[in-house]
Amino acid sequence: MVDKDDSLERKLTYDGVVHHPLGGGSYVFKRRYVEYLVRNISKNNLRISIGAQPNSSPHFGTLVVFNLAYVLGQKISERIETIKPEIFFEVIDTAPSETRKIDGIDYQISLRDSKVADGCLGEYFELLDLLKRFTGIDYTVRRQRGFNSQQGIPRILRKIVQNREIIAPILDPQNGLLRIRVACSDCGLTDKNGINTKYYDDKIGSYCPEHGWFETYFDGESEKFEFNTPLRNLVRGIIYAADNQNVEVPFEWLRVTGSDYAGYYQEQLLYKVASLLGTPAHELPTIVYAPLIVDWSGAKLSKSLYVKQNAYRDLPPYLVNYGEFRNKHGEAGVKKMFEEVSLWLEESYKLFRNYSVYYFMELFKND
Ligand SMILES: [Zn+2]
Repeated sequence: MVDKDDSLERKLTYDGVVHHPLGGGSYVFKRRYVEYLVRNISKNNLRISIGAQPNSSPHFGTLVVFNLAYVLGQKISERIETIKPEIFFEVIDTAPSETRKIDGIDYQISLRDSKVADGCLGEYFELLDLLKRFTGIDYTVRRQRGFNSQQGIPRILRKIVQNREIIAPILDPQNGLLRIRVACSDCGLTDKNGINTKYYDDKIGSYCPEHGWFETYFDGESEKFEFNTPLRNLVRGIIYAADNQNVEVPFEWLRVTGSDYAGYYQEQLLYKVASLLGTPAHELPTIVYAPLIVDWSGAKLSKSLYVKQNAYRDLPPYLVNYGEFRNKHGEAGVKKMFEEVSLWLEESYKLFRNYSVYYFMELFKND
């Protein structure tokens, strides 16, 4: 615990010198990391997948992830001209907008059903449009309903439900619950943790405290299903792997996400569980991890703490919130971020690491 009273003691000082120690990934992939990625791409149409929960203006980490996806697309197509990259934005509009406790059970209303997603997506599109202008790379947007209506989803749902006793304790170590859910079509209430959910070979039964029981079939209704983050990560990994392996599918997937999902998270929740369900780890798509933006203590910046608890009062707001970033630094600021992130892919020691907020305060101090 840090003593908050002694403000002099709290003052952070730094010499402004950046050291570049090699270690782990940055040591192995020290040079020519983009070439390594390119060698593992076998189709000409490359979909670079990114995701976000549109619950407010994009946070600074989203700005970094979106920039990295575009920079990566640009660098890959520069290396091999026949590869045509496209940015594929998976919108997580099934994330909770609000949660209500009814009879001791948490029910959520999603960003989709509360219409919050529709109100927030404009700023995401604005950022994507800017990055498209810098690179000439197109983007596609897909909501969760579109993701879940894919042909391959019912088969994956069946497999997950059939094997729930093996995989639920891995995916939900606290309660061992399979976090598949369907919103009530009348009111949108959704049994967030699947407490009452009943499983069958071809469907699930869900309970709404207002409207009672309803059933949803895997075949023909798969677009209605929603997942918590680890389960969604698993379903996405398995279906991307199937697309990549299938020569009839004209595109292949590569994922870009924040490095808070790197390492132990993917080992336990993706590679182990996908292998148990019959998708070997080596078939799963490559994931390129974006550095985290961390506060003075090394903790990831959290926009929700900023919004809800008035956190980070010492920091310039543009470091927490894209809306503020755009107001202060405009298009030139996004361009500067794009150029900064571009350097990270050329020197792996700049990619396989995190960045503190003070790094960006130095970068933007004269702007
Ligand atoms: Zn209902």
